[in-house]
Amino acid sequence: MVDQSLMARLPKVDQLLADPQMVEAAEAIPRPLILGAVRRVLDELRGRLLAGEVVDHNQLEAGVLAAQAAELAACLAAPSLKRVINATGVVVHTNLGRSLLAEAAVKRLLELNRGYSNLEYDLSAGARGSRYVHVNDILCQLTGAEASLVVNNNAAAVMLCLQTLAAGREVIVSRGQLVEIGGSFRIPDVMTRSGAVLKEVGATNKTHLRDYEGAISSETALLLKVHTSNFAVVGFHQEVSLADLRDLGDKYHLPVMEDLGSGTLVDFSHFGLPKEPTVQEALAAGADLVTFSGDKLLGGPQAGVILGKADYVERCRANPTNRALRVDKLTLAALEATLELYREPEKALKQIPTLAMISAGYEALRKRASRLAGRLKGLGLPRLKVSTTDGISKVGGGAMPLAEPKSRLLEIAVEGLSPTKLEAALRTNDPPIICRLEDQRLFMDLRTLVAGDSTAIVKALAGLAG
Ligand SMILES: *Cc1c(COP(=O)(O)O)cnc(C)c1O
Repeated sequence: MVDQSLMARLPKVDQLLADPQMVEAAEAIPRPLILGAVRRVLDELRGRLLAGEVVDHNQLEAGVLAAQAAELAACLAAPSLKRVINATGVVVHTNLGRSLLAEAAVKRLLELNRGYSNLEYDLSAGARGSRYVHVNDILCQLTGAEASLVVNNNAAAVMLCLQTLAAGREVIVSRGQLVEIGGSFRIPDVMTRSGAVLKEVGATNKTHLRDYEGAISSETALLLKVHTSNFAVVGFHQEVSLADLRDLGDKYHLPVMEDLGSGTLVDFSHFGLPKEPTVQEALAAGADLVTFSGDKLLGGPQAGVILGKADYVERCRANPTNRALRVDKLTLAALEATLELYREPEKALKQIPTLAMISAGYEALRKRASRLAGRLKGLGLPRLKVSTTDGISKVGGGAMPLAEPKSRLLEIAVEGLSPTKLEAALRTNDPPIICRLEDQRLFMDLRTLVAGDSTAIVKALAGLAG
């Protein structure tokens, strides 16, 4: 039975709009969202009454409903893409936006995009210029490349190179390097889309130089090496070095390309991490083209960097497909500022967050962990249990899968909340705090926290355990 007396008490839209709570909300929130929220709250309640549900009288009061509508309107008005706190310890976390930009890059990005720029304007000639010149010299100076081209991301870079050099012809790749990066990027699929024909050689675990040589024919256009960035083969395993591929390429007049994936300019083995081939090394070993991501180990904005011999890079640049993969000015601004930091490697390590986080030492993390634990214990909340423990971070971004940088974690528990519930509560906090849940225990890894995160964490836990 529908209770008509309850239906009659349902406030009108205008009544809710006139409520002081809605009036206040409407100062910051666009009117269509305010109106939408009020209608939704009333419709939902009307639906419940029509379904015969018995609702308490006070739930029909304008003030109560206005509070609900104001909260809903605030939710509707909140941006979908928002800053989150990464307490997972995965530095290049693709789901959380990969690399954080250095302050200098953020500053440049703002400066250059508030006004006009010489993006495609040659200031000395007073004539049309090229967007690609802005990062060209610095990329070449830092890496030893003859020429550069930047596109939207590394998947685009690989695609463009293959299409330009090998459409309709064969590309020889080791079976051990037919990788899937995640997010449906698989080397064989990209190859197909580029119009090149994949010629696989060798076995999953071992490929010899003679395998490549045996596959070369008049149809061969390119020898391709793909850095197996996100997995490692151990044991009975052999890859052909880039230098050997270079010699083979010379013998048969074939270009050699390497997709480095993460592409670092810094040798991480200095920090006790596994050796990743650097961009400089790949070029020095004779690659005609090298591609890598801007937002993995480089620590810059999303981009795909193509470096190599001038004639090959020029052919990629002139390929009409390049127009569809074109890098934008925001990226170029942030990338140039990031690259400038690499002129002084000490500066790069300190100021590029990805590098600073990866190279952060255990002792520093331990200090930060006990400081944060101290602040949390200082809240004096009996329900909040905080302890510190050792753990392992991850580089992420499909880079250095074997690296196990030692870190210091906070283990957090709140009495009356299961670890799963606590994880969800922190994840839906404003700002969201993304933690690690392992064996029904909740951890925060200090490695990936940035300035200000501690205060937000303290505030969130004070709310949850208070
Ligand atoms: C990550 C990766 C890519 C894709 O790079 P995006 O910048 O994400 O497009 C391609 N190849 C390898 C080997 C990678 O590791």
